[in-house]
Amino acid sequence: MPSYVMVEKCDGCKGQDKTACMYICPNDLMVLDKDKMKAYNRDPQMCWECACCVKICPQQAMDLRGYADFIPMGASATPLRGSQDIMWTVKFRDGSIKRFKFPTRTTAEGTADPTGGFPTHDDLNSIALATEPASLGLSAVPTPKK
Ligand code: SF4
Ligand code: SF4
Repeated sequence: MPSYVMVEKCDGCKGQDKTACMYICPNDLMVLDKDKMKAYNRDPQMCWECACCVKICPQQAMDLRGYADFIPMGASATPLRGSQDIMWTVKFRDGSIKRFKFPTRTTAEGTADPTGGFPTHDDLNSIALATEPASLGLSAVPTPKK
C-alpha cells in the first residue's frame, strides 16, 4: 500500500520551498498543497513503498501499511529518526507496544565520502559506474568476449 499523509499532523514543513517528503522521494511523488499547507502523494500507483518519506517526516505525519512479513496485520510501525539511529515503535492490534532501535550511520554527519576514496570518471557513455574499475579492484571493467 502506498504511503499516505495524516493530514491532521502535517504542517507542510512550515511552507518551505521544498518539504522534507518532496526532497526525499526518489520518484518525485510528494507535492505540497500551498493553500491547505498539506502534502500529498500525487500518484499512489507509482509509489515504491520505500518508506523514505515516512522516515524523514519531522511531524511523523506519513505512514504506510506494513507488509505481513514486517509487522502483523493490524499493527502500525512508526519511525523516529535521530542523527545516529532510527527507532521503530510497533503497536500491535492488542495494544501492546515494542520498540526497536537501529544505528543508521558509521560516520559523523556530513563526513561520508560518496566515492569511498576511489577516483571517479564522468563518461556517461561508459559501461563502468563512476568509481569503477578502481572500486572493483580491477584495472578495467570486464566485458563479454565477442
Ligand atoms: S515531510 Fe511531513 S510534515 Fe513535511 S510536508 Fe511532508 S508530510 Fe507534511
Ligand atoms: S514511499 Fe517512497 S516512493 Fe512512495 S511516496 Fe514515499 S518516498 Fe516516494
